[in-house]
Amino acid sequence: MVVVLRQMNIDGSTVTVELIQRPRRSMELQIKGPNQLRVLVPTGLAEPAVFGFLEKKAGWIRQGLASAAEREAAAQARMSDGAQWLLLGKLFTLRLQSAASSGLEFVWKDGCLTANGCCDDLNAVRKGLLKWYRVQAEAYVFPRVEALARQFGLAPRSVSLSEAKKRWGSCTNRGAVRINTRCVQAPRSVIDYVIIHELSHLSHLNHSRAFWAVVAARQPDYAAQRNWLKQYGTKLLDW
Ligand SMILES: [Zn+2]
Repeated sequence: MVVVLRQMNIDGSTVTVELIQRPRRSMELQIKGPNQLRVLVPTGLAEPAVFGFLEKKAGWIRQGLASAAEREAAAQARMSDGAQWLLLGKLFTLRLQSAASSGLEFVWKDGCLTANGCCDDLNAVRKGLLKWYRVQAEAYVFPRVEALARQFGLAPRSVSLSEAKKRWGSCTNRGAVRINTRCVQAPRSVIDYVIIHELSHLSHLNHSRAFWAVVAARQPDYAAQRNWLKQYGTKLLDW
């Protein structure tokens, strides 16, 4: 594999183009960030041919870079001082307090979560916040799973937390239940739905009518909770 870095001008801004040569038949474009493009190139293909291809794809590239910029701006806003977050369905304010420290410490006080330390690194704030949510999830989700499992006479083989970005939970055919850490942002009734949904997979490993009948018997207003997740879920998961 050969990696070459080039620069390209698109609409007046400089974009870094990472060319990765590999044994392959065709070229593939990937947007890596607001100003970064990756191109998978068949080994031995000359650069003018690559850039000719990029010219042809300029419209697609422009659009991809623009949406990457939008996503980054949104992520920045969410990790900024004063941003609003949810815990068990209630809003709280995230405060960033810069201090000369290499680490970050999260302190909860009076309905406000303050990150003390090196707040410049957006990704470090994100990771710290996720770690904080994990502690909340451990305290809330585990006992809740236990209580609901007992109530419905179920015995999952194991219960753990996950940090997946696309799904709220999972249940394997061996009875291992995983619940997404990020669900503690949602109201309690919605968390119950996520848990009941996965626990109901212990007897139905599909989304058949029979499965939904079991869910409905365990949480009669599950449709409302499911709709809440449909409406707000992506925002709660994708960060
Ligand atoms: Zn399911």
